Formats: sequence, C-alpha cells, structure tokens
Amino acid sequence: MATYIVLLGPPGVGKGTQAEILAEKTGLVHVSSGDLFRENFKNQTELGKLAKSFMDKGELVPDDVTISMIRERLTRPDCQAGAILDGFPRTPAQADALEVMLSGFKGRVDAVPYITADEAVLVERVSGRWTCRASGHIYHEKFSPPKETGVCDLDGSELYQRDDDKVETVRKRIKVYLTQTTPLVDYYRQRGKLIEIDGMQAVEDVTAVLLPALKK
Ligand code: ADP
Ligand code: ADP
Repeated sequence: MATYIVLLGPPGVGKGTQAEILAEKTGLVHVSSGDLFRENFKNQTELGKLAKSFMDKGELVPDDVTISMIRERLTRPDCQAGAILDGFPRTPAQADALEVMLSGFKGRVDAVPYITADEAVLVERVSGRWTCRASGHIYHEKFSPPKETGVCDLDGSELYQRDDDKVETVRKRIKVYLTQTTPLVDYYRQRGKLIEIDGMQAVEDVTAVLLPALKK
C-alpha cells in the first residue's frame, strides 16, 4: 500500500524544509502545492496566472483548481509508492477530496505531523527565506544560509525572495491559515493521524523528533 504523509502547520513553520529531508530519508516524493503553483506561473500557464493573483494577496487559490492540480500530480508514476504532501490539504473540502482520491489509488493518509511555532518566529523565518529558482530548495539568510550568497548549494541556481514573503502578506497568510486551515487539526486528530511537533527548535532537532514519530 502506498504511504502518504501530510505536513500541517502555519506558513513559515518549516514544512518544506522537513519535507525535503523526509523525502531524502524515505525515498517518497515531496509534493508541494505552492511549488506546483509557482512552477505553473513560471511557465505562464492559465492555472499559474490564476493562482498568482490569489497568492500575491495572501489568499488561498480556489479548491477546485487546487484539487485537480494535486490529483494530476499524484497520478504520475513517481508517486506510485506515495508522497509527502506539503501545503495540501489546506481546507476541509481539500481534505475530503484527498480521502476520495487516495482510496481510488488504494492508499490513505498514514500520518499528519502538525508543526507549530509562535507568530513572531514564523514572520522571522519567512522574512529571511530564500528560495531556489530551479527547484524550490529552501534557505534562510540566518538559520540555513547557502555556502555562497544568492546561489543554491544543490543545483547552482539563483536564489530569490518570494513576492508573497513580504511581512504584510505573511501576516495575512497566517490569518487565512487560522481561519481556513486550522479546522484540519481536529479533522486529523479525530482520525487518530495527528502527531504534534514543536517547531520552535533547530531544523535538525525537529527532524530528530519527526522521523522516529513517523516510524511508529
Ligand atoms: P513552510 O514550508 O512551512 O512555509 P519553510 O520550510 O519554507 O516553511 O521554512 C521557512 C523558512 O524558515 C526558510 O527560510 C527555512 O530555511 C527556515 N526554517 C525552516 N525550519 C527552521 C527551523 N527549525 N529553524 C530555523 N529556521 C527554519
Ligand atoms: P508556505 O510554504 O509559506 O505555507 P506555500 O508555498 O505553501 O507557502 O503557499 C503559497 C501560496 O500558494 C498560499 O498562500 C496560497 O495562495 C497558495 N496555495 C498553496 N497551497 C494551497 C492550497 N492547498 N490551497 C489553496 N491555495 C494554496
């Protein structure tokens, strides 16, 4: 049976960072809804242009387009063994759609690590985030700087600061998260899937709690 892990938590808490590490350790593919939207925008697809108009305001992209984008991604051959989902689902409707999708693939959500941190920490993390242009690798100017400023260690591509990582937009995204995404905490807790993780520690310390919790 395929394995699906859903990473839950506010913007900037470290989902993408932990997803990259987990993908390397487990061999599962990292599927990031935000990265998929950004890739679509880079390729100037209609989906990408539509998504960008919501992303720049710090709002969620409508459920129908988001769900069909993820469904298409999860049917690709590299997801046959499952995936680490980062940034999806973000609403109860998306979570319900995921259940239906995965039962169609003879799979299910196995575990939902829920990573948390204080708002001040989230803002500090997002404000210093630098993202790789080619494949979305994640850096922080203070907490995980690249070897060479502005250049990705892994593929040599340029690092940039996302348009939606401005402080005002981050605060808006946190508000949107609190109203639209936090219902998923109870949703997965009731299903016995939630694993609460303190995200206020260094990257390696978060991983050190996360990995053994997933093995259980
Ligand atoms: P998310 O995917 O939840 O938005 P990211 O993984 O992109 O979060 O992390 C946001 C920023 O914080 C990045 O710049 C990343 O390098 C940094 N970061 C991630 N985890 C930690 C941590 N535990 N301690 C300090 N900085 C972190
Ligand atoms: P972060 O890692 O900081 O939480 P993401 O890259 O996951 O940011 O998301 C950036 C933006 O992309 C969101 O603010 C939202 O506009 C859009 N987005 C990403 N995932 C979803 C989703 N599952 N549903 C709706 N919108 C999404």
